[in-house]
Amino acid sequence: MKTQTRRKFLFNLGLAGLSIPVISGNGQCGEDKKSNPNAMTDKNRKAGKLGIALVGLGGYSTGQLAPALQQTEHCYLAGIVTGTPSKAETWKQKYNIPQSNIYNYENYDAIKDNPDIDIVYVVLPNAMHAEYSIRAAQAGKHVICEKPMAITVEDCDRMIDASKMAGKMLSIGYRLHFDPYHLEMVRLGTQKIYGPIKKMNAGFSFVAPKGIWRLDKKMAGGGPLMDLGIYCLQGICYTTGMEPVAVTAQSAPISDKEKFVDIEETLTWQMEMPDGLIAACTTSYSQRMNMLRAEAEKGWFELSPAFNYSGLKGKTSGGTMEYPALSQQARQMDDFALAIKNNRSSPVPGEMGRRDMKIITAIYEAMRTGKRVAL
Ligand code: NAD
Repeated sequence: MKTQTRRKFLFNLGLAGLSIPVISGNGQCGEDKKSNPNAMTDKNRKAGKLGIALVGLGGYSTGQLAPALQQTEHCYLAGIVTGTPSKAETWKQKYNIPQSNIYNYENYDAIKDNPDIDIVYVVLPNAMHAEYSIRAAQAGKHVICEKPMAITVEDCDRMIDASKMAGKMLSIGYRLHFDPYHLEMVRLGTQKIYGPIKKMNAGFSFVAPKGIWRLDKKMAGGGPLMDLGIYCLQGICYTTGMEPVAVTAQSAPISDKEKFVDIEETLTWQMEMPDGLIAACTTSYSQRMNMLRAEAEKGWFELSPAFNYSGLKGKTSGGTMEYPALSQQARQMDDFALAIKNNRSSPVPGEMGRRDMKIITAIYEAMRTGKRVAL
């Protein structure tokens, strides 16, 4: 079996020499643990790092983004926005954040006067993305917004317009564009290493617990398609290098009517690509699936699990894929910081988030009408 080596992979991405600091037990870089917050801010700014403020300190900010920001080379955790005073205190101590860089939802707009904060990263429930991204742009900040970009295409337009008006950049938290396994799927698919793709499947599901905002259409904008299915449609687009021209979709019967009041529980959909390929996808809040697979004329390639933060496994008809563990989120945020510093575009811009929202909207229409919806 063929295995791609770490050296070769880093070379391919032009990242040989990338240094990743070791994280100590509390998620902080040991060296800076005892520094005073203002001195640490000065040090980061002198090193040319851009300051990021995380908005919403829930599961993703706490478990992934803040730890990743201890590994980044071109940006650092400069500030936070939270409605919970006890969280503010915990984060302030843990990450050495100056009190002047801690905001709540009432004084959020005052961030405009804070030169420590270059980038605002919106990590709130989906229905809040548009408002907080637009206000960040109006405060003169670059924005990263979590996926899905918003809950309507119109909101995506307003977000793009606000960033353009402010002359600032907007990108979406599509972490997998920075993961070596997914980059390999892109290479195998778009360079037709196994010939043209004939069949594609993707599935991403988990069992959602009762009572979370993800089950509330007002906050989530929809069901598992908005949250998990978006990874499947992304995977199909970047592996093929194409965008769908039409979609069809079918929702499965609801098994728990109390839990799934106004969102889909399980959804299958098909994406018709410009070359005639039909990609089949599934998402659900009551199953477990996690795969992305392509069958081409001369072979196949797949990831399973495909969409996790780490521990991905890749196989091809020619062997296994094996890459070193890297933080997807650290690479994603560093790339955005470099895009800003070097005045180049982001590979995951607001326009891509809008494209995906357009596809999602078409999938929901196909699900409701039972008809093929052209894009
Ligand atoms: P979460 O429920 O853990 O956190 C949401 C945060 O928003 C909490 O801190 C909560 O206090 C705050 N909040 C503020 N106003 C709120 C309100 N009115 N209702 C509910 N919460 C409110 O959610 P999460 O898993 O951190 O997800 C946040 C965003 O990040 C979502 O858009 C999600 O799609 C995205 N996300 C992305 C990834 C990824 O891999 N890119 C992973 C997880 C989540």
